[in-house]
Parts: sequence; structure tokens; C-alpha cells
Amino acid sequence: MKKFAIFGNPVEHSKSPLMHNSAFRAVGFDGEYFKILLEDGKKLRKVFFANNLSGANITVPHKEAAYKASDYLDDFARKVGAVNTLVLKNGKLWGYNTDAPGFLRSIKKFDNIHSILILGAGGTAKAVAPLLKEEGFLVTITNRSAPKLEEFKKQGFSTFTWDELEKDSFDLIVNMTSAGLKDNNLPAPKKLLKRLFAKAKGVVDIIYGKETPFLALARQFDLTRMDGSEMLIQQGVLAFDYFTNHQYDLKVVEEAMRKGLEESK
Ligand code: NDP
Repeated sequence: MKKFAIFGNPVEHSKSPLMHNSAFRAVGFDGEYFKILLEDGKKLRKVFFANNLSGANITVPHKEAAYKASDYLDDFARKVGAVNTLVLKNGKLWGYNTDAPGFLRSIKKFDNIHSILILGAGGTAKAVAPLLKEEGFLVTITNRSAPKLEEFKKQGFSTFTWDELEKDSFDLIVNMTSAGLKDNNLPAPKKLLKRLFAKAKGVVDIIYGKETPFLALARQFDLTRMDGSEMLIQQGVLAFDYFTNHQYDLKVVEEAMRKGLEESK
């Protein structure tokens, strides 16, 4: 039996074992997937090998540590500097990032989206924004403070702090901050969000498992709303594809992961 795990701190809340174990059963792969609480990111490699793992997912705060722990990086992971999927091949660790392509797959259900406003300039935004741009979306980033915007500016993105943001017409508004995760904060001032929601077609919050204040506010508008569980599933499907060497029908994998997640509710 092949062993897989998710590393994080905290990790207790993670739904990844439910999704991956459900998919292993669905395709008949002899695997098991569990959680590993990792406090020190520098020990990632050691713990990976000590547990005799064949692959792993990595969540907050160890995605940079996983990048450093990789023997080889795929081009995209190298570009964004963060790894959320590790795969053991011939004794070496290969690092991938499935967060950004997972997010891209998750927004496929929205029609006619051209311009996207990302709220937040953290690690996830850093991975997702370049891929959206590559795919032809017009991407704007806004953040509560200026420092993290610098890197985006260098890459040619339009960046604004909240008070600098004058344009208010974007097709899709995405909360990529951690506001609302463990608190009841909105990711930007209410007045600004209302102005944005009035002209948008859809909103996405990548936080999952609860209705955040951001999504609750959007309920007052005629908008398509989506939480982070779709991104969670899609990044998981792509990670599973790497774990199992691209041999299964991803529609079957997706369905099983969705079922695993549903059963946990
Ligand atoms: P980071 O810690 O790297 O970045 C956090 C960002 O949020 C920063 O831009 C920060 O702004 C901003 N921020 C934090 N608190 C507030 C607040 N109260 N008001 C406004 N802005 C705030 O986080 P990550 O990019 O790693 O993760 C972001 C979120 O995405 C998390 O909630 C995480 O759980 C979720 N996530 C979901 C995934 C999924 O599969 N659904 C996958 C990956 C992440 P500043 O620069 O001013 O500090």
C-alpha cells in the first residue's frame, strides 16, 4: 500500500484525507492518506522519508519549506516559489504547485469573465495571479497594505491599496486574503466592497467550510457566489493525478473527492 499525507500547522481541519481516500477507493488504487502536524518546516524531508511516503500535500505555513525541500521543481512551481504537492520518483522529491491551476479550473463555471480583482497579495495570490494573466484575464490586485504589492507591480500587474482603487468595474471579485478564516473580518472596507459588488458578475472566496462575511455581504447582490471548496477539490484532483502518475480518469477522481467532502458535512 502506498502512503500519502498532508503536512501543515494546524492540519486538524484539513479535508484532504477525506477527498484522497475517497478517490483511492473509487479508482481501486491501493493507497492511504493521512494528516501530519509539522511544526518545523526544515524537518519536512526527514519526516516525509521517515513515514515512507510516496507523495504529500503541503499547506500553511510550509509551502516555501516544501519548495526548498524539493530535489526537482516543475517550471511553474519554480516560477511561483511555492510547492503544495510533493511526489517521490526514484528516491527524489519532485515539487509541484496545484493551487493556481486548481483555482483556474474552479472558475471555469463562470461565464464571460474577463477582468478579475484579487483582494490580497499573499502566497496564494502570488501563485494564482501570473497564471490568470497567462490565460488572458485582466488581473488587478488590491491589498490593505503596500509592501506585498511591490512584487506584483514588478511583474506588470495593476496594483492598488484600498484607498488608491478608483476603478470599480470588475467581472469577478476574489477574496484571497485570510480575512474571515478565523475571524469575522471583511477583506476590505464594506463601502468599497458594496461598490465593487454592484458592478460585478460573480464573487469567489477561497476560504471554505463556512459562509464568510465577504460571501454573506455578496448575498445582497445579484451575483453568482462560490466558496473555496471548488478550488480545494480541483487542486486535490491535480495533486492526485501527480500521485498516481496520470493513469486515472480525472472526472471519476473529481466525483469521488466531491463525495468524500460532502460526506464530511
Ligand atoms: P498569506 O498569509 O500569504 O496572505 C494573507 C493576505 O491576506 C495578505 O495579503 C494580507 O494582507 C491579507 N490579510 C490578512 N488579514 C486581513 C484582514 N483582516 N483584512 C484584509 N486583508 C487581510 O495567506 P495565503 O495566501 O497563504 O492564504 C490566503 C487564504 O487562502 C487563506 O484563508 C487560506 O486558507 C486560503 N486558501 C485556500 C485554498 C483552497 O484550496 N481553497 C488554497 C490556499 C489558500 P497584508 O499584506 O496587509 O498583511
